[in-house]
Amino acid sequence: MYDVTALGEVLIDFTPSGHSEKGHVLFETNPGGAPANVLAALSRLNKKTAFIGKVGQDQFGHLLKCVLEDQKIDNSNLLFSETVNTTLAFVHLDEKGDRSFSFYRNPGADIMLEKDEIDEETIQQSRIFHFGSLSLTNEPAAAATFTALEYAQKHKVTVSYDPNLRIPLWRSHDEAKRQILKGFEYADIVKISEEELEFLTGYCDVAKGTEVLQEQYGTAVIFVTLGPEGCFYRSKHVSGQKEGYEVNVVDTTGAGDAFVGGVLYQFLEINKPLDHLTVADFEEMVTFANLMGALTTEGKGGIPSIPTIDQVERFLKRIPEKGRT
Ligand code: ATP
Repeated sequence: MYDVTALGEVLIDFTPSGHSEKGHVLFETNPGGAPANVLAALSRLNKKTAFIGKVGQDQFGHLLKCVLEDQKIDNSNLLFSETVNTTLAFVHLDEKGDRSFSFYRNPGADIMLEKDEIDEETIQQSRIFHFGSLSLTNEPAAAATFTALEYAQKHKVTVSYDPNLRIPLWRSHDEAKRQILKGFEYADIVKISEEELEFLTGYCDVAKGTEVLQEQYGTAVIFVTLGPEGCFYRSKHVSGQKEGYEVNVVDTTGAGDAFVGGVLYQFLEINKPLDHLTVADFEEMVTFANLMGALTTEGKGGIPSIPTIDQVERFLKRIPEKGRT
């Protein structure tokens, strides 16, 4: 039995790492990819996780298989493409540590996953199935993702969704919107950023935007991440906002994924149906998830900077209650 299985991209993030003597920008290779980052967060919180996806039969692909293993993420559903290389992403950081990406994926192995390669039993044996929108940009991975979602629905597995918006990966804004919204038809738990919410609903007001999504798709729980401001949450019965923590930001890569890891961890611990979650349950979830996100910004790269359960507990003990806004 797995606590969480995720499907999607595992790739190499090239993160800026100073300058050479000639003044050229240097890049450091970091393992990444949102669904893999979410599993790494859960694995560091001692949850049992499995990954479904594809890499290239190249050095990076083999490195990523080892990374999953090191993170104690089951990699038996990580497949190798003989013809297409591992997907690469270059991360560009602004002075606040905020990112933009250039993807090297024309194609990349992650979008070569086929529907016949999805193992129904792995999904059936999971308490939560998590996916993002990058596996929806191209075929055959989009069909593979929807097949996995059908299996999750068939076996009543809770579905978690992060509709990450990376516009350059889509052929048009309309296609991005249509396909990303299709993912909502399956999702029980959604984590979305303010920009993504505005793109999908036209509302920058988080209360209104989440209300519209919930009315249209019946999503049980929606979390809107607000960067340093923390997050907003809405279920069918309650809603609220929780401030973030003050930290020394180096690189925000992986903060949203660590946040998702924190939410799913707490959901598994609380162990109640989504519709029964109270304000107190949500407060516990978002306090923890905000901390997971905040601590992740203090280091470079996605997976390497996600905190362990010990780091989270040490931080919580050090900070007096008033600091835990
Ligand atoms: P992604 O683009 O990777 O999906 P995201 O936009 O959803 O990420 P962010 O809002 O950047 O995610 O970060 C997720 C969470 O991490 C926030 O809700 C917050 O709790 C925490 N966080 C992010 N940035 C900061 C920051 N500068 N200071 C404190 N906490 C932060």
